[in-house]
Amino acid sequence: MSVESAVEAVRTLGGTARTSQLVRPGVGRSDLTHAVREGRLLRPRNGVYALPDTTPGLIEALSHRGRVACVSAGRAWGMWILDDDEDERTHTWVRPGHHPTRLVIDPDLEGKPCCVFHRDIPVDDLALDRVGVIQCLLQILRCRGREVFFAALESALRQRLLDRSGRERLRSLVPEGWRWLVDFARSDADSGLESLLRLRLHRHGISVASQVEIPGVGRVDFVLGDCLIIEADGGTHDGPARHRDRVRDAAAMALGFVTLRLDYTLIIHDWELVESAILAAVARNLHRSIAGLTW
Ligand SMILES: [Zn+2]
Ligand SMILES: [Zn+2]
Repeated sequence: MSVESAVEAVRTLGGTARTSQLVRPGVGRSDLTHAVREGRLLRPRNGVYALPDTTPGLIEALSHRGRVACVSAGRAWGMWILDDDEDERTHTWVRPGHHPTRLVIDPDLEGKPCCVFHRDIPVDDLALDRVGVIQCLLQILRCRGREVFFAALESALRQRLLDRSGRERLRSLVPEGWRWLVDFARSDADSGLESLLRLRLHRHGISVASQVEIPGVGRVDFVLGDCLIIEADGGTHDGPARHRDRVRDAAAMALGFVTLRLDYTLIIHDWELVESAILAAVARNLHRSIAGLTW
């Protein structure tokens, strides 16, 4: 065995590994030591190795004998996490009662601990690097509230990180008053923005059809009533995409639809404006077609 094979073995195991997982298939302890010395591997704590491109947050969590948790784990799982928190600290799970071994007090943190620590009891399988999907979602609900939870949940459902039984288990573990969020969640939301929009409009008793195919226009994000289209653009639509959007809007208008086009900044940072635009449109019955469209 060689340093190269030690690095390869860590990569095969997903980028982080325990010594026991590496030694079993034949990696030598001295190869691990050499790999660390040469900067080819990191050793965030005794008995755990990681590739050098591992995120600083994960290295930090591992160094506490913990795992990334909550929103940090959600990102690691690939869930859409609403980015509305200025606190950029890593959320780290450590065993209940475990005192983190390293508490770096950064002057920028004004005396706060270096991580946001979670110490709840695990409810699903723990990987070496992160908490399980159900525990992650429960932590997000407690730590960041229902909107961040709901958007993360729909993103997890879309990516099939949760199957039917996982969803039922999550529902049983969520406090009773929030179970409707699990029932209300869909697995076809195209983006976190869509999830937020649907949840926020639901509060006003406004229901919307999502991902509606309109002949001659294409698939639109939402339709309120029968003719008010709302598009929630995730990225910036520039160049040819921008032109395509205009063509869609014109084609929709020719059919009797009105389009309200929103983007990330508007939905996240200027919701009051978006809300008043939608409520005003609904109050003026712009979502009801005089022509009585039967699409
Ligand atoms: Zn948290
Ligand atoms: Zn920390």
